[in-house]
Amino acid sequence: MPQKSKTPVEIYQLLDKSNCRQCGEKTCLAFASAVYLNQRHLAECPHLPSELAAELLETDNTRKPFEPGVEYVKHLRAEVAKLDLAAAAARLGGTFANNHLTLKVLGKDFRIDTAGNLSADIHINPWVAVPVLNYILHSEGLPLANVWVTLRELKEGRERYPLFQRQCEEPLKRVADGYPDLFDDLVNLFSGHRAAQHLNSDISVVLFPLPKVPIMICYWRPDDGLESSLNVFFDATADRNLDTDSVYTLGVGLAHMLKKIARRHGAGGQDFAAVT
Ligand code: SF4
Repeated sequence: MPQKSKTPVEIYQLLDKSNCRQCGEKTCLAFASAVYLNQRHLAECPHLPSELAAELLETDNTRKPFEPGVEYVKHLRAEVAKLDLAAAAARLGGTFANNHLTLKVLGKDFRIDTAGNLSADIHINPWVAVPVLNYILHSEGLPLANVWVTLRELKEGRERYPLFQRQCEEPLKRVADGYPDLFDDLVNLFSGHRAAQHLNSDISVVLFPLPKVPIMICYWRPDDGLESSLNVFFDATADRNLDTDSVYTLGVGLAHMLKKIARRHGAGGQDFAAVT
């Protein structure tokens, strides 16, 4: 799909037209204009029809990882400011004190005050902020089912999965292939833990980007002429403790961050704050 051959209106016609803001733009038309100007990529809309998403996968290897915009973060913060955060803390697996809700995000404290202001022991990028804020707004607070599923099996995950593979699982596999200490560093830097080897994987590591939304990364080393492989799993409650688009954003953001850490190789704790 060569983007330059389209006018903004033609690009708009390809979109969902729901103005859901998940791309970080206020409207689908604004997003279409940004695509026309080559400021954004069509694949950054998570609501493309599956045939079009598949076509983009075939024709374009250059797009940047999906990262929601700051305008969308502002909108979510304003919604969070309307909530009773003290009452929400137990549902979210967090604590409330001194007008702040505190959640553990990859082992680090992430704080939201009653006016919707964010502060954290990590750098706050939209890929972290959007899932955290959506979690506060929409999580049902269900206890974990301890049943691991792929993104495909979550609500509306099937159509998002091809892009998720391309933007999360494949980059993570390449990182794991070239960075033997990756999984030990994940455990040490992000308060993760090794898990029983799920589906006969060689390594399974569980991280908690949100208290009730764990991610399991499973890696199979190359073996007998077979390539390595890597899959990312979520608890079966993930689409009720968070929305599937935010689950997607967490996975893709994590992959993007780990690529940066791998480039620095041998990253220490300070690098987490620097690259998230
Ligand atoms: S994410 Fe897609 S559907 Fe939602 S506002 Fe952006 S372009 Fe429109």
